[in-house]
Amino acid sequence: MSYSNTDGIMIGLEIHVQLNRLKTKMFCGCSTQYHSSPPNTHVCPVCLGLPGALPVINQKAVESAMKVGLALNCEIVEQTQFHRKNYYYPDLPKGYQVSQFDYPIVSNGKVAIEGEDGELVIRIRRAHMEEDPGKLIHMGSIDKSKGTLIDYNRSGMALLEIVTEPDIRSPKEARRFLDKLRNILEYLDVFDSDLEGAMRVDANISLQGGDRTEIKNISSHKGAERALLYEIMRQKNLLRRGEIVTMETRHFDEARGVTTSMRSKEEEHDYRYFPEPDLVPLRVKDRTEKLLQELPELPDAKKERLISQYSISDMHAKALVSNLKIANFYEEVASEVNPKVAATWIADVLKGELNYRDLTIDACKVEDIVQLVTMIMENKITDRSAVEVIRTLLDSGGNCMEIVEKKGLVKVEDNVVEQAVDDVLGENKNAINDYLNGKEQSLNFLVGQVMKKTRGRADPMIVRDIIANRIK
Ligand code: ADP
Ligand code: MG
Ligand code: ZN
Repeated sequence: MSYSNTDGIMIGLEIHVQLNRLKTKMFCGCSTQYHSSPPNTHVCPVCLGLPGALPVINQKAVESAMKVGLALNCEIVEQTQFHRKNYYYPDLPKGYQVSQFDYPIVSNGKVAIEGEDGELVIRIRRAHMEEDPGKLIHMGSIDKSKGTLIDYNRSGMALLEIVTEPDIRSPKEARRFLDKLRNILEYLDVFDSDLEGAMRVDANISLQGGDRTEIKNISSHKGAERALLYEIMRQKNLLRRGEIVTMETRHFDEARGVTTSMRSKEEEHDYRYFPEPDLVPLRVKDRTEKLLQELPELPDAKKERLISQYSISDMHAKALVSNLKIANFYEEVASEVNPKVAATWIADVLKGELNYRDLTIDACKVEDIVQLVTMIMENKITDRSAVEVIRTLLDSGGNCMEIVEKKGLVKVEDNVVEQAVDDVLGENKNAINDYLNGKEQSLNFLVGQVMKKTRGRADPMIVRDIIANRIK
C-alpha cells in the first residue's frame, strides 16, 4: 500500500506515561514497585476508593510532571487544579478518575524530530496529571471469558497524559516522535519503559475530506505505526468509494494488525468534569527555576556535545544518545581509548549485537570493550575476530582476553601470512594466470584461500596488497 501527504494525513497522539520511577503512588503512600508482586498487595483505602479516604498529592509526582514539561519546552501553568472525570468502570472503584481539565500542569510545548523531509516540529498541546486505574484480567480471551479479575496494584499510579497537536504526517513520524519522547523521559529518570504498561498511546488520525478516528490504548511504538498504516488504508478506501469516515473510537488488534470499531466517540461533557473538592489548587510556577537547575543533559544536547568533544560523526552520536545507558557506557570507554574507534565499535557493532539478542548494555563490561578496542588499535586482532569476540562475550560471557586466547584470535605474525601467501600462490597457478589475463575476481579467490589457511586471522586488505604485489 502506498500513500503520500497529498492524502492530507494528520496525526495527533495522546500518550499516557506512567511516572513509574516515583517511590509512591499519586495520592497515597502505596509503593509503586508492584510489578513482581501478587495482585492487590499494593493497595490502601485511598487507591481502592473506599468511602471517606482522603488523597494527598505526591509532591515528587508534580515535580516530575513539571520536569517533563520543561524538557518538552512547555509553559508551566500559574496555578493548577485537579478535576474529577466521572465514569464508571470496574477498574475505577471511585466512579471517577482524578485528572486535570482546564488547568493542565504544562502546555504549549514543542519537540523536533526527524521528519520525512527534514526536521519537523511537533507542537505539544498540553500534558496533564491523572491517576491510573486498576487492571482487568480476563480469564481466557475477552469474548469467551468466563469472568474477569481485577488487580488494583496499578490503581492510583501517577500518570502524565501528553497531548500533541495533529502535526504528525506519517506513521513513521509518529513512531519517531514516540521514540524521541521515550528517550527524553528516560533521561529525566521519571520513567522506565521496560515495565509493563509504562506507555500507552491513543492515536488520532484523519485524511483530507474525512473525520478523524481515535485508536485507543496501543502498547508499543511499533504497534502505533502499524495501527496507523492500517487506518490510512481503511480510511483511504472509504473515501475513494465516496463513503464517509465516521468519528469513532477504534481498537487495534495487535495479532491481526487491524483496527476495529469500539464505540462512537465520547464527548468532553459526557464526563461531567468538576473540580476535585478534596485537593487544593496548586501554585507551582515558582518551582520552575529550581527544576530547570535539576534538569539533566537531554538527548539533543548530549548528541551535540559528543560530536564536538569526541569528533565523532552525527550518525554515531545519534545512535549512542538514543539510549542513555549506551551513551554513558560509550563515554567511559572513550575516556580510555580512541573515542572515534570506540564510537564505531559501540554504535555500529555492539549495539546491533545487543539488539539482535534483546540484551541491554548491562550485559557488557566497559573493561572488555576497552581491551578490545585497544587490540584493534594495536593491530593485534582483525575486525572479523573483534566481532567474534563481541558475539562470544554476549552469548557465553567470559572476558575479552580469555576469549581471544582460547579461540586463538591473535592476528597471525607477518611471516606466517607470507608463508600462507607462498603456499596459496604455489597451489593455484590457474588463478594467477586468470588474474594476469585480466580476470579481477581471481584475486579475491586467492585472498580467500589465504584467509582460509590463516583461519581468518590475517588482515584481508593486507593479504590483498601482498598478493597483488607478488604477481603483477
Ligand atoms: P478529544 O476530545 O478527543 O481529546 P482533542 O481535540 O483534545 O480531542 O484532540 C485529541 C487529539 O486528537 C490531539 O492529539 C489532537 O492533535 C488530535 N486531533 C485533533 N484533530 C485531529 C484531526 N483532524 N486529525 C488527526 N488528529 C486530530
Ligand atoms: Mg481523547
Ligand atoms: Zn494506596
